[in-house]
This record gives sequence, structure tokens and C-alpha cells, in this order.
Amino acid sequence: MSPVKPEPIQLFNTLTRSVANFEPIKAGQVGLYSCGPTVYSYAHIGNMRSYIFADVLRRTLEYLGYKVNHVMNITDVGHLTDDADAGEDKLELGSRREGIDAWAVARKYTEAFFAHAAMLGIKKPTVVCKATDYIPEQIGMIKDLEQRGYAYLTEDGVYFDTSKFPTYADFGRLDVEGLQSGHRVDARDKRNKTDFALWKFSKPEDHRCMEWDSPWGRGFPGWHIECSAMSMKFLGSQFDIHTGGVDHIPIHHTNEIAQSEASTGKSPFVRVWMHGEFLVVDDSAKMSKSSGQTLTVQALADAGYYPLAFRLLALQCHYRKQLKFSYESLAGAQRGYERLSNLAQRALAEAGAKPQQLKWSDAAEKYRQQFRAALAQDLNMPQAVATLYSLLEDSGLSAAERVSLVAEMDQVLGLDVFTPMPSVGTVPPELTAMLDERNQARTAKNWGRADELRREIDARGYEICDSPQGSYLKKKL
Ligand code: AMP
Ligand code: ZN
Repeated sequence: MSPVKPEPIQLFNTLTRSVANFEPIKAGQVGLYSCGPTVYSYAHIGNMRSYIFADVLRRTLEYLGYKVNHVMNITDVGHLTDDADAGEDKLELGSRREGIDAWAVARKYTEAFFAHAAMLGIKKPTVVCKATDYIPEQIGMIKDLEQRGYAYLTEDGVYFDTSKFPTYADFGRLDVEGLQSGHRVDARDKRNKTDFALWKFSKPEDHRCMEWDSPWGRGFPGWHIECSAMSMKFLGSQFDIHTGGVDHIPIHHTNEIAQSEASTGKSPFVRVWMHGEFLVVDDSAKMSKSSGQTLTVQALADAGYYPLAFRLLALQCHYRKQLKFSYESLAGAQRGYERLSNLAQRALAEAGAKPQQLKWSDAAEKYRQQFRAALAQDLNMPQAVATLYSLLEDSGLSAAERVSLVAEMDQVLGLDVFTPMPSVGTVPPELTAMLDERNQARTAKNWGRADELRREIDARGYEICDSPQGSYLKKKL
């Protein structure tokens, strides 16, 4: 049960680089904006880690008694392949790659994104807004910036003059002078290297599917402006929390702050900025759509992993730490998930049915407090998950209490441990154990044993796939 009065929570704020008590603008209510996906290809599990983080933040705030208005954008235009406003629009690139128009590309990958999010237990945000639905709002904001003297015209589009915004470098702690010294005047005629596009003109030779008229000429919005225009539309000119991945700190969010505060004259645009660290692969390289080395949630499911085991893996690493992904660690999370699920279902069977609200015993209350304390310390989810394991293994609690505690905690964890796991598409645990043993044999250069295990696994209808992220089992077709 959610408490009536919201409970305090401490959050790390990128703005101050410190943890502090969270104070919403309106008591008990939170305006939360999350930078959403660029829908030109499938979101990979690194992207999804960011959305699990935003989901856990939203669920935690709701659990602690806040009313949350969670807004997420869908970037379906304007995100270029190059952060310096050069390169191609990723949606137009997707259109050429797949031979369908950019609108169809956006529809296809938006649908896939929400399907994958649902597999991971990510709640749909209260508001989902597409950049292409709010072009007039973006044009309106650019007009404000122009009137206030922050925008200038080049042959290529309308640009924001970062030298007019004296605190530009603060948020990202940028060395603007260092950046400028490497600056060469380029064809786009920017005044400063850090200046960024608010509006870009269409070039006839590009034959864009997505373009609009504007007071400056036909074209399309720069990427950053959509998040400022839409977050303000739904949450007001100043709001509580804004999330994204750490890569957004030096450019996207820096630019959002500059153009938002410049257009309204109000500061701060956002009270608390929160950033999720990357999911990285073996060589500590960030998983990225452009590197080609990406994995989707569907690929994990096809290889026999529960998407919710990936959610558990993500929860077991604090959102401000890098998560090193490997199939071995995912297999470990899968075993952990199976254990949690088995314990929860055993408690449920023992308790009869899901019990109604209980009067908590002191022992149960202790677990609740531990859980809340973990959440309130800047979302210490590894600790919160550890509490879940401990209580499920605590025979001092009645089955009914264990069930009630798990049901309450799962409002935040979203692991859905009471739903029996589907048996299809999952790798039997003894085969996963054999794969572990085969990997150990290989490490020990015991090739004979490793081959023997491969043959046994093969005879049971599974194929071992070795990849840069480790090895996994796939059912043979
Ligand atoms: P995009 O679809 O490229 O706009 O990215 C969507 C979100 O995923 C952004 O918030 C990024 O910061 C985040 N992101 C991108 N790569 C990773 C990664 N390897 N690990 C975690 N988050 C990521
Ligand atoms: Zn954004």
C-alpha cells in the first residue's frame, strides 16, 4: 500500500553533482520527462537499460506516495548521425535502408520499442509525444529565441548562439575555450563550435519525406528543440526531473537547458537532472546502434532468456555504475530470477491465495523499512533486490506475510514473480549448467571435456553460440 503523505527521497542531481533531498515544485506531485528513443532501428538492451532506470524512478516515486506525470518523447525526426549538426537525419537513413518512407520507419520501430518495453515490465509513460506532432510548438520556441537575440540564420538553417548564454558550459562542465581552439570555420558558418541547429533547411537533392514550412524556410527541426518544446508543453516552463543516458550531459541536455532558459528567462529549467550509466560489452565499449554490435530484447528472448531476467540484471547494478553485459552474467540473473520466482510461487501456494492487507509483524515491518530506505538512497536497487531475496528465504515470516511483502515490493521492482514462467523458449537449467561447465573447461584448456559437453548439449537439441558478449544456448530449429 502506498503511504498517504509522500515520503522523502534523496536523488543524485547532475546539476550539482551531489545527492540531495528531492523537493518537488508542487508538494506531492512530480513532473518527470524522459528522453525517449530515436525510432530508426530497434532499441538495444543498452537503450533499454536507460528506460528500466526511468521506469524504476517513476515506480519508486509513486510507491513513496507522489503523483507522477511521466512524459516521454519519441524522436521521429531531426536526430542526425553526427552530433555537430552534420550528417544525415537518422529517420531518412532508415527509410533508404529499408525502402519504406520515414513515417513507416518511425511507426515500425515505435511499435517494436513499446513491445520490448512491455516485455521488460516497463510501464507506459503517462504521456508519449512524437516530435513530428509538435512542429508548431518547436517553431514557436525558435521564434521566441530569435526575438530575444539568441538565434541567427546561416545558409544551412537557424542556429543558437551559445556565446550569448554565459552559463552554457556549466552543466556539462565543458571546456568551451578548448573546444573553440580546435574550431575551424566550416561550411555551415557557425559562429561558435558549440552553437547548434534549431531549424535545418531541406536540400532539394535530399528528397526528404519529412519537412515543413517555417518562417525561415522549408525544413525540419534540430534534434534538441523537440525535448524543450514538448517537455514545457506538458510539464510547464519549469519542472521537477529530467532523465536520459550519460551521453546526453555534454550536448543534448546542455543544449536543452540553454535554449529553454534563454526562451523563457527562467532558471532552472529543471530541478533535478538524472542520468543512467551505460551498458557496456566485453571491451568496455558502449553498446551503440552505430557500432553494429547490438542486442535487442527479442534476441535475448529468442536465445531462451526471460526478458525479466535482464530487468533483474539491470536492477542488480546501481544506475550510476556501468553495467558490463555478458551472457554469463545474464545466465546468472536468469538463475536468480528462477529462484525468486520459485520462492514467491511456493509462498503463494502455501498461503492459499494472495492475502488481503495484513497487520505487519515487527519482522515484516523491518523488511519494509529496509526496502524503503534502499529506494530513498538514490534508488539503491541492488540493496532493494537483496531485501527481496532475504525475506523470501526467511522462514520466520508466515507465507502470507512473504506474499504480501513481495506483492508490495513488486510495485517498484516490476519483476512479476507470481506469474509462472513460460516453459517454451527457455533453456532448461541443467543445460545452462552444462554450458557453464563447458566454458570453464575451455578456460582451463581442457578441450576434450569442452567438446564432449558441446556434443551432449547438441544431442539435447541446443546449439552453443559464441559471441563477443560470451556464449549462450539457442534451440535448434
Ligand atoms: P537513442 O535511441 O539513441 O536516442 O537513445 C535512447 C537512450 O538510450 C538515450 O537516453 C541514451 O542516452 C541511452 N543509451 C544509448 N546507449 C546506451 C548504452 N549503451 N547504455 C545505456 N544507455 C544507452
Ligand atoms: Zn531529449
